[in-house]
Amino acid sequence: MRERMTARQCAWRRRSLLGGVTGVATLAALGGAPAVAGRAQPRLVVVGGGPGGLSVARRIAEQGGVRVTVIEANARYAACFWSNHVYGGTADPDSILYGYDGVRAAGVEVIQDRAVAVDRERRAVRLATGGRVAYDRLLIAPGIGFRDVPGYDAAAQKAMPHAYDTRPGSLMKLRQQLRDMPDGGKVLVAVPGGTYRCPPAPYERVSLIAHYLKHAKPKSTIQVIDGKNTFLHQAVTQRAWKERYPGMIEWLPVDFVGEVQAVEAGTRTLHTGFGRFTGDVVNFIPPQRAGDIAVNAGLADETGFCPVAFPQMRSRRDDTVFVVGDAVEAHTMPKAATAAVSQAHACAGAIRQDLLGATPPSPALELACYSFLDPRHAVINTSTYAPTTGGGVKRVDAYNSDKRESAETRRNQAAEAQGWFRSVTRHLFA
Ligand SMILES: Cc1cc2nc3c(=O)[nH]c(=O)nc-3n(C[C@H](O)[C@H](O)[C@H](O)COP(=O)(O)OP(=O)(O)OC[C@H]3O[C@@H](n4cnc5c(N)ncnc54)[C@H](O)[C@@H]3O)c2cc1C
Repeated sequence: MRERMTARQCAWRRRSLLGGVTGVATLAALGGAPAVAGRAQPRLVVVGGGPGGLSVARRIAEQGGVRVTVIEANARYAACFWSNHVYGGTADPDSILYGYDGVRAAGVEVIQDRAVAVDRERRAVRLATGGRVAYDRLLIAPGIGFRDVPGYDAAAQKAMPHAYDTRPGSLMKLRQQLRDMPDGGKVLVAVPGGTYRCPPAPYERVSLIAHYLKHAKPKSTIQVIDGKNTFLHQAVTQRAWKERYPGMIEWLPVDFVGEVQAVEAGTRTLHTGFGRFTGDVVNFIPPQRAGDIAVNAGLADETGFCPVAFPQMRSRRDDTVFVVGDAVEAHTMPKAATAAVSQAHACAGAIRQDLLGATPPSPALELACYSFLDPRHAVINTSTYAPTTGGGVKRVDAYNSDKRESAETRRNQAAEAQGWFRSVTRHLFA
């Protein structure tokens, strides 16, 4: 309950939220026997060209000595962490799409293909087009996958896009549906319970869709059915909804509506234990787990995510494999792009230690999640984490916006978020 920043938060902001993709750590003296001795160019293969995968890939390529190959399914990355601004009408759809030319220019080989299997015994990744890519070390960074919900098959996902991953088509489809909806229509947003990427993001989505509707289709409404009874920044967010979008948003907690149990795309209907909910536009955000390739490779546990030893991010299932980003079973550490970038520091160091014998750094693990209440005001959650002796991770410091923050502070946080987005995408993709 404070507006004043903690010392750690100041330090965090001074480092400009970029950590894992900027600044080359000084290589300490070589120590220990490298895992792949006597070879000029050991190879790191990275599955996934998002913030986690690219932060590690670029850092290692920058430092030299390792051949780095990224396998990425899509030709263009849709920066889902800024996608809500596209729905709000304040960001151009093209402004969140990034190609991989800059990554190639930085010395990283990029294969545009889908990784469909990992042969851990022979240390090779199999591609959808039939090829195999051999590795000395493998980094798995595929982001999230989605748990099965009856009726929400591939066709239903096209008709009712969740718009919660990095495929441009899904994000743009939701935008188009919002634009095609008549004034007086209803948008239904379903938020999952359990662990999902970026905890405040669904509520930011509601705020920014409401901003769009208020100006473009003021008779419209939004109904939120939540898989939880409470959410981060709840008091601040609900107050902002009341003040900025009066009468437009209805939020219903899980105790009142139940969890979504089945989807009927033809009638845009969500079935919960307690009833059925429909909308002119339905944004169903499904429950989540690690990306398919991580699960299929046997790297996930019963939580659906991949257990790793912090801070190096080495898989607990395979010593030659590392995992970063949203696919990780990260205990209390939320799934965020800033977290993925932060995890990449120590991970890149550990991979270089394995392959070249370089001494790894032990940087702090930090994250920031922004949530815009309207296009000019944002609330923030920043946290710092430390590894525990057993290879886990625990939160050591946190700052959450509260309802007494001034409008000026929220404008500053919005500006800071914009600066972060520009910087992180430049450092990942330029
Ligand atoms: C609406 C929204 C708002 C958000 N706001 C914030 C915020 O304010 N701050 C913040 O820090 N985070 C935010 N996030 C979270 C952030 O987007 C994720 O945490 C981040 O993208 C995770 O990075 P990643 O590299 O683990 O996965 P991703 O970004 O999902 O990247 C994974 C990549 O792997 C590729 N891939 C997957 N499987 C395969 C395969 N088999 N073969 C080849 N390629 C594959 C995918 O195509 C994708 O490009 C937000 C998310 C959303 C949805």
